[in-house]
Amino acid sequence: MSSKKLSDEQNEFQEYARNWLSKNMPPPPPVRLPISPIEVSAVEQLGYLQEWQLSCYRAGLIGCDYPTEYGGAGRTDCQRLANQELGRAGAPYFINIVGLSMAAPTILAHGTEEQKRKFIPGALSGEEIWCQGFSEPGAGSDMANQQTFAEKRGDEWIVNGHKVWTSLGHFAKWMILIARTSRHHKYDGLSYFLCPIEGHKGVTVRPLIKMTGESGFNEVLFEDAAIPDSNRLDEEGKGWTVAMTTLTHERGAAEGAGGGGGGGSTHPLEQLIDLARKSRRDGVCAADDPMTRDAIVQQAIVSEGLRQGNRRARVPALTDHPMRIPMQQKLVSSELVQNIARIGVDIAGAQSTLYKLDEKAPNGGHWPLAYMNSFGHTIAAGSNEIQRNILGERVLGLAKSK
Ligand SMILES: Cc1cc2nc3c(=O)[nH]c(=O)nc-3n(C[C@H](O)[C@H](O)[C@H](O)COP(=O)(O)OP(=O)(O)OC[C@H]3O[C@@H](n4cnc5c(N)ncnc54)[C@H](O)[C@@H]3O)c2cc1C
Repeated sequence: MSSKKLSDEQNEFQEYARNWLSKNMPPPPPVRLPISPIEVSAVEQLGYLQEWQLSCYRAGLIGCDYPTEYGGAGRTDCQRLANQELGRAGAPYFINIVGLSMAAPTILAHGTEEQKRKFIPGALSGEEIWCQGFSEPGAGSDMANQQTFAEKRGDEWIVNGHKVWTSLGHFAKWMILIARTSRHHKYDGLSYFLCPIEGHKGVTVRPLIKMTGESGFNEVLFEDAAIPDSNRLDEEGKGWTVAMTTLTHERGAAEGAGGGGGGGSTHPLEQLIDLARKSRRDGVCAADDPMTRDAIVQQAIVSEGLRQGNRRARVPALTDHPMRIPMQQKLVSSELVQNIARIGVDIAGAQSTLYKLDEKAPNGGHWPLAYMNSFGHTIAAGSNEIQRNILGERVLGLAKSK
């Protein structure tokens, strides 16, 4: 039993990626970046991140495994290595998270030749920002309950409805959109569209302000918005199947096919340990307090488990079910993020009330922001309750919930 050895191409690529990153890391951003790309709201932040994504794309660190005719680098199993190197270098994240991880792989799997050539390059380079229009006020976990309706008129679909929680909708040129095209069938009545957003007639994007003060979320209203039939992805009525491809990528159950990794900040556990070393409670260093040490060690164990899970996923003989490891990793890592933020707030104590603009706030006000945002991790891309259902039913083969 051995993990997959790197091929000559992969070895050469890994070295190239490492060298390129050592010479080309970007200067610090002109304005502070939020924790996650979906909270980017200032045009200066957008410009900085788009420039960085474009530069990585041109260097071949994004879309590594995509065919060259669709704007990729035409390599074999190299994206994973690029992602590792980006993380190791502490590179900024890529802004076009929906384009890279959801739209591009879905178009590659279901698109026509023309759609692949037209849409994939802009998604990989980050020049065209994508958003995801799946959630509606009554269709989150029950995703098949879509009520946004698309009616065929000639060569166009006329869309009316209301999407919500649309991350990055305020910058998006395109949306991956599921809409109902028949009222008679629940699943078979859905179709999948590549919908123009920015400046498109009949489309209104309205930001939603979160408790953190950030406005990454939006609601998107469609009032007689027209989409050409050539922007329908796959057959009419096949939207549910296409959406499952998107969700497989979004929930992390598809390895390697995404256009590019997130780049990466340092692991939040290291930040937590650093905070504990620098904080004092009743005159004692927090890192010496047995309760605090215990809480951190518990998270360190989970973190190491996740690391080993990632390694295990690369040993073919150990992957009994393709969804098992990536799905359990998403479940556990989202809870880890939440626990680390909670412990950080605990350690910072009264200083946790100091927010991002306060000079005395520990880690520049990271902890209250991380804590408030941490709840989104266990909800986004399907809530953890739903993840548990899927793992129970589809991976462990338990009885279906009624
Ligand atoms: C940070 C973030 C970013 C997001 N970005 C986007 C985006 O860009 N585009 C987009 O389309 N959507 C986006 N979403 C929406 C996200 O996909 C939904 O919030 C999620 O699917 C849950 O749906 P809901 O909010 O409607 O909750 P509901 O479905 O109403 O669920 C409410 C609660 O009930 C539980 N529940 C529901 N059904 C069951 C069941 N059968 N068994 C057990 N428990 C159940 C859920 O787990 C949850 O705890 C985002 C969400 C977050 C938090």
